[in-house]
Amino acid sequence: METIQNSKIIRLIMDLRRKGVSDMNVLKAMERIPRDVFVPQEMLDQAYEDIALPIGRGQTISQPFVVATMTEAMQISDRDKVLEIGTGSGYQAAILSKLCRRLYTIERHKPLLQNAQAIFEDLKLRNITAICADGMKGWPIINGISQAPFQRIIVTAAARGKPPQELLDQLDVGGIMVCPVGDNTDDQVLKKYHKLSDDTYSISDICPVRFVPLLPDIARSQE
Ligand code: SAH
Repeated sequence: METIQNSKIIRLIMDLRRKGVSDMNVLKAMERIPRDVFVPQEMLDQAYEDIALPIGRGQTISQPFVVATMTEAMQISDRDKVLEIGTGSGYQAAILSKLCRRLYTIERHKPLLQNAQAIFEDLKLRNITAICADGMKGWPIINGISQAPFQRIIVTAAARGKPPQELLDQLDVGGIMVCPVGDNTDDQVLKKYHKLSDDTYSISDICPVRFVPLLPDIARSQE
C-alpha cells in the first residue's frame, strides 16, 4: 500500500515539474504531504490527479498545480510567519507549514475547520494554528495577543476588485500576498502584491484561476 501511494505522489510531482513548477523546496514540501488524507473517501482514487475536488459545503480542495504555483509565488523562508485565508481541506496549509516558521489559517465553515485540524494532528504538523472566523478581517487579537504583521499572506478564495484592506494592513512591509481577484469564476486572475511601504504595492498577474468567492462572516450551519 505504502509504495503504491508513494509512487502516486512521485508521479504527481513529475507532472507538476512538466507543467513548469521548478522550485525544489516547493516540490519537496508537496512530496512530503499525502493528498489522499485531505480528500473525501469517495474520491480517493482521484487524490493524486492534478484536479480540484469537492470537499463538501460547496467548497473544493485546490488543484495541485495551483497549490504549487501559489506556494512558489510566495517565496517563503523558514523565518516567515504566514497567514492563510480559506483553510478548506487543509492541504495548502499543510504544505505551507513545511516551508515557514508558523502558519496561521482561518476558515469560515466550522466543520471544514475541524476536519482539517484533525488531519494536522494526525500528520503531527505542530506549527499550524487554525481558527473559525471571517478571514476578510484578518487574524483577530486573541487573549490580547496580535500576530500581525505576517511576512506572507495567501488567500485561497477569490476577492472582488482587490484583497480586503484589513488583510493588506496585516502584511509586513517587504512582504508578499498572493490572492485570486475577480468578480465571477470565469474571469479571475491570481495576483501577487509586494508591499513596498505602508500604502504602496507593486502588483503583478501570475495566471488565470478559478476559486470559490471570499465571503463575509462565519458560515451558518445550513449554508
Ligand atoms: N486552501 C484550501 C482550498 C480552499 S477553498 C485547500 O487547500 O483545500 C476556499 C475556502 O475559503 C473555502 O473553504 C471557504 O469556506 C473559505 N472562505 C471563503 N471566504 C472566507 C472568509 N471570509 N474567511 C475564511 N474562509 C473563507
